[in-house]
Amino acid sequence: MQFLKPQRCLHCDGELTPHQRYAGGVCSDWKCRQAQLDADIDRERDRANGVLARRDAATATTAEHSVVVPARPSRLRPLSARRRSEFLGNLDEILTEIETSREETRPDRGTAAIAQDPAEDASRACGGAVTQDRSAPENTGGSPAAPDLALSVCAACQGACCHAGGTHAFLTAPRVEEILARDRVPAKDLRRYYEEMLPERSVGGSCVFHTQTGCALPRDRRAYKCNEYECDGLKRARTFFEEGVAAVHVVRREDRTIQDSAVVSADGVRHVRKAGR
Ligand code: SF4
Ligand code: SF4
Ligand SMILES: [Zn+2]
Repeated sequence: MQFLKPQRCLHCDGELTPHQRYAGGVCSDWKCRQAQLDADIDRERDRANGVLARRDAATATTAEHSVVVPARPSRLRPLSARRRSEFLGNLDEILTEIETSREETRPDRGTAAIAQDPAEDASRACGGAVTQDRSAPENTGGSPAAPDLALSVCAACQGACCHAGGTHAFLTAPRVEEILARDRVPAKDLRRYYEEMLPERSVGGSCVFHTQTGCALPRDRRAYKCNEYECDGLKRARTFFEEGVAAVHVVRREDRTIQDSAVVSADGVRHVRKAGR
C-alpha cells in the first residue's frame, strides 16, 4: 500500500522519509507541521458546522473561527477516602499556617488590632454555619466572575486545567485568610464547608472538586488561580466574542491530535464527537 502514501511533503513539496510518509505526509519543518495542524483544525471546523447543521438546521450558528484548548480524560470516579483526606490535610496545614501567623503577630498588633479582625470577631460573635453560595456559575476552569460566552469555552473544554488542582485545589494561605475575613467565619466552619462541598464523584486524577457539571465550588470560595487563569484558547475566544463574533469553534487537542470539538454561541455549547466514534 506504500504507493498510496504521499512521496513529498504536502506543504513544501520536500522529499519525505518513509516514516514521514506514514505519519501524515508532512516533513519535519515546523512551518509545515503548523500548516498541517491548521489544516486539521479547518477540516474539523467544517465537519462540526456540517454535523450541527444536519442535527438542527434552524438553530445552528456557523462558526468561522477556531480556538484550541487542551484535552484531558474526564471520567468520573468515586472520590476516594485517601483523596478526601489529602485535601483536608492540605487545608489543615493552611489553617495552621494562618493561625500561627496570627499568633506571631498578635503581641505586636495589640488588643485593638485583634478586635478589628473580622474573622476573629465572627468566631466569637456567631460561630454559625457557613453560608453555602451555589449561585455562581458551575463551569470549570478560570475566568472572570461575570458569566459570558467565553465562560462556555471552559464548559466545552471540560476543565482541562483543573487536572493540576489535584488534592490542593490551588488553595493558598492568603486566599483562605481572605475568605475567612471576608465571610467572617471561624476556621473550623470554613473547614467543614469545604469538607461538605467535596463531591461523591469527581473526575479521576483531576481536582477533587472537578465534577461532571464543572467545579463543585462557587467562585467566591475557589482559589485565586481558579478565578484568574485563562489558557491561550480561552483568551483568543474572549477576543473573538468581544469583536462581535457570534460563534466560536473550540477544538480539544491532546499533543497534535484533535480529540473532539464544540461550537460555542449564545445558544449554548454544542459538542461534536470525534469522527468515527
Ligand atoms: S481555562 Fe482553558 S484549559 Fe482551563 S477550563 Fe478554561 S478552556 Fe479549559
Ligand atoms: S477548585 Fe474548581 S476551578 Fe479550581 S481546579 Fe478545582 S475544579 Fe477547577
Ligand atoms: Zn514540508
